[in-house]
Amino acid sequence: MAELFSEVPGRALAIYAHPDDPDVSCGGTLAAWAAAGCEVHTLICTDGGKGTADRALDPADLVRARAAEAAAAADVLRLTGQILLGLPDGELVDDEAFRGGLVAVVRRLRPDTVLCPDPTAVFFGQDYFNHRDHRITGFAVLDAVAPAAAMPHYFPDAGPAHQVSTVLLSGTLEPDVWVDISATVDAKGEAVACHRSQFPDGEEWAATAVRLAAEDAGRSAGVPCAEGFRRLRLGG
Ligand SMILES: [Zn+2]
Repeated sequence: MAELFSEVPGRALAIYAHPDDPDVSCGGTLAAWAAAGCEVHTLICTDGGKGTADRALDPADLVRARAAEAAAAADVLRLTGQILLGLPDGELVDDEAFRGGLVAVVRRLRPDTVLCPDPTAVFFGQDYFNHRDHRITGFAVLDAVAPAAAMPHYFPDAGPAHQVSTVLLSGTLEPDVWVDISATVDAKGEAVACHRSQFPDGEEWAATAVRLAAEDAGRSAGVPCAEGFRRLRLGG
């Protein structure tokens, strides 16, 4: 039986690799929680500077455009805050420095719920496999949340320890909870459409693609529109 995740966290942090990832992965959930009074932050790890097939496009211009797109999308979803780590796109390394940076943000913002990519989801059917940056971000976030952020001897200079209680993994092959986004699917479509460098086919195309995916997940959840996640309960 499909389980709806209907609790609204007090503070949520969505950590993703590229500027469009939070909106595509969980934009409906972030908007629903923000509307219900949750303090919602996003942390975007890379600058997105390689996200184009156009060789003539200057990566520095693309980085600037993508930062502006992410800011516009955050306004649409009514997020509390957005942090851009600005690491080079496609070059994430799961090392102490990256995890320490994530731990510092988790300890500063003290979210009860963290959202991130499911790093174990690699192959989606026959025509897509998960981007390396998504896989690396997923594993680094999991390791940053537990045990590192919760245990004071990990990264002792990165602020006081903080226990995250729930992790929701998006882009998963094994969803076990669904968030009803029927009221925010249009906002999600609008936020995704802000990323014009990634989705140049226009607002209507983005809105339709977002709605079809949400309706598909909704059929699993028994609601009109949903986003599915794999949930981890870490206590705290
Ligand atoms: Zn991405």
